[in-house]
Order: sequence, then C-alpha cells, then structure tokens
Amino acid sequence: MLFQNTLEFAQKLDAEDELSRYRDAFHFPQSNGKDVIYFTGNSLGLQPKRTQEYIDAVMTNWKELAVEGHFHSKKPWWDYHERLAGPLAKIVGAKEKEISVMNTLTANLHFLMVSFYRPTKKRFKIICEEKAFPSDQYMLQSQVSFHGLNPKEAIVEVKKRDGEHFWRTEDVVAKINDVGDELALVLIGGVNYYNGQVFDMETITKAGKNVGAFVGWDLAHAAGNVELKLHDWDVDFAAWCSYKYMNSGPGNAAGLFVHEQHLDDDAIPRFEGWWGTKKETRFLMKPEFESTNSADSWQVSNPSVLSLAPYLAALTLFDEVGMPKLIKKRNSIVAYLEFVLQEVDKETNSSFEIITPKGRGCQLSVLLHGEGKSLFNYLTKNGVIADWREPNVIRLAPAPFYCSYEDMYSFGQILKKGVLGQL
Ligand SMILES: *Cc1c(COP(=O)(O)O)cnc(C)c1O
Repeated sequence: MLFQNTLEFAQKLDAEDELSRYRDAFHFPQSNGKDVIYFTGNSLGLQPKRTQEYIDAVMTNWKELAVEGHFHSKKPWWDYHERLAGPLAKIVGAKEKEISVMNTLTANLHFLMVSFYRPTKKRFKIICEEKAFPSDQYMLQSQVSFHGLNPKEAIVEVKKRDGEHFWRTEDVVAKINDVGDELALVLIGGVNYYNGQVFDMETITKAGKNVGAFVGWDLAHAAGNVELKLHDWDVDFAAWCSYKYMNSGPGNAAGLFVHEQHLDDDAIPRFEGWWGTKKETRFLMKPEFESTNSADSWQVSNPSVLSLAPYLAALTLFDEVGMPKLIKKRNSIVAYLEFVLQEVDKETNSSFEIITPKGRGCQLSVLLHGEGKSLFNYLTKNGVIADWREPNVIRLAPAPFYCSYEDMYSFGQILKKGVLGQL
C-alpha cells in the first residue's frame, strides 16, 4: 500500500480497521488532557476495561463464600487456571494439555530447567543469544552453578556479526552444530527484547533437536505478538509472562508449555507440589503424587486467583479477535509507523536507524544518532510513552489491540517538532 503522512490518510486507515473499536476496550493514561500515544505494550500492556469485573468477582466470592469459594464460586478457584489453557493454546499453537498457568516467567523457567537442563559429563552446554534479557542470564548462570558447573564454560552465546544489529539464523544453527553432542539445551528469547527480532524458532528448534539437545523458548515478547506453532515445531518447552502484549497487569500469572511428548513420562525430573497432582484426588491428601499427564503437573502451589482473573479477562479479548487479525493489523500499523519515521527522517535530515530486522513483530527499535535522551524526554513531555534503552535506542511497539494509525501520524508530528527544536 502507498502510505501518506497526513492526518486524513491515518484517519482513513482507522476507519477501515476492523479492530479500531477495541481501542475503547482499554483504559488509556492521560497526558495534557488526552489519551497518551502508548508504545510500551511490549513492557506493560494497557488495562482492559473488563478486567475490573473479573477481579471484583473474585473479591465478592471471597467476601461472601470464603473457603467455599474454592468450589462454589461461579468460576471455582480450585481449577480456575484451567480456564486459561484453551485461549492460550490458540495463541501459542499448542494442545490444551500442553499449557499451564502459574507463578511468573523467571520462576517458571527455573522450574522447567529442572526438567530440561539435566547436564551430564559430556552434554552440559547451553546455547543462548548474547546479551539475553538479564533475568534470563541470571537464571541460566544460577542453574549452571547449581549443578556445580562453571557458567563461563557451560553457557555459549551466539553473537551478532560485527557491525550488524541482529542475529543470523545460520550463525545460530552453525553454533548448535559446532557444540553438537556437548549441547544439553538451547534457550533463546523468541522475540528479542532489545532489537525486536523474531528468531526463526522452527529452524532453530529443528537444529537443536537434531544434535540431541532440548530446545526451549522464552516467549516474553512473542506470546500475543507473533505467530507461534509450538506443538508443530516440536519445541520441548516454553514460558512467557502475561503482562506485556497480553495485558494481564503487572507481574501477573505466567504461562508455560510442555510438549505432549514429555507429558506421559512419569520419570521426568520435576519439582512438584499439590496443585500438580490429579485434581480428583488432590484433597484426599494422599502421600503419592499422581501426574495429570498434562502441563498442569508442573503446577506447584495453589495459584493466586487474583492474579489469574485479570489474565483470563485479557484472554477473552484474544479469543474474540484471534491472532490472525491481530497479526494482520500489527503488520500494517508497524509498516505505517516505519513509513512515518522515514518521512520525519527525510523532512528533518536526521539519521534514524531502524535496527529491527525484517523478521519482526510489533516492535521497532530505533537507533538515534546525536542527543537521543533529550529527544526522548521531549516525547514523554508531549504525551508519547515509549521506552529508552542505553546507549541510544528508543523502542516503539504499537500494540494492534489499542493503537491507532492516527497515533502513528501524531507521533510523527511530535517527533518532528522535537527534532527540529534540537537543531
Ligand atoms: C520481560 C521479560 C522477563 C521478565 O521476567 P519476570 O520473571 O516476569 O519478571 C524475562 N525474560 C524476558 C526475555 C523478558 O522480556
């Protein structure tokens, strides 16, 4: 499509957008008396208006039923988490029994590592991307140390090439083949948090499994953003948080995936708790753990229902719309944002560099040359909520559920004023 950098054109795109009515399903923070232009749905998604009702229902049930709420709430608490598996299975391309919801992302990765990082004398290495999200780095290092190994030897980082801002799939595959039968695990962020790159998860998973390793994905920036086919890709395990593209609220319950091929393996090492045992016999308080032969067997504790409720509320929105429509709008609004950036770049003679490679989801990472931080501060003052990363990168993620094309146009106008004001 040929884009135009005008208000009329942006408004025409909004009028033709079948998702535009969902903007009104979310609460927007206000700045200078207007909705902000929100580019940080990759960090904390906006609050859906329907979330309050889901939380209130739990509070009311607790008030009125107390312990009886476990079984007699309208949505009983004892199996509340099971309601999230259906919608999530569609989002990540899984079977329902491959999904569970519990804890938070880093905690779940630790639990999954118990099952899927079982180093032996020969096979003990982990491949990840260089400069992975810090929490993932700490998680991997501490897991390796826990097994009495040296993180410097066991963790192998795939580097970007000199002068490039992205990882090449062939370099990841080459590293996998190189480490070969010493490789215990590949664990990479499916969408990189910094440059917005979408890894070729299918190819990398195949390569890892070919050399006999387990392959897992951290989907913090991928779930609810890009197309995923975890089951068909033969991924061993995955985990994601729910508060970024999935709008569940700060720190709320997180999702995990374990491939069907591992679900009947009762010998798989796992840290267990009473919520992972068969629910029919859970309250008989038997001494033996009985696997559910589903990802729910990774459940440990009685989950926080107050944290599941907002996730369920947000998932009803995903279920209504479906990933294909979200992805279609995402592609189009990100393309329009890129166009607007290029127009402003030309008009102001700046040199913005989009470092997000072509395989991309919702996020554009823009490398600024010159006084990036003061420009960023100008944007914030003028109602643009974006994200600043050292040394000079602004991350912009126009979440397709609630961002409009007019937002992209208005952002361009603010950006232009900000750049010209600096000259
Ligand atoms: C956001 C994010 C996290 C956050 O982990 P929590 O346990 O939810 O605090 C971890 N890893 C990646 C790659 C992320 O993007």
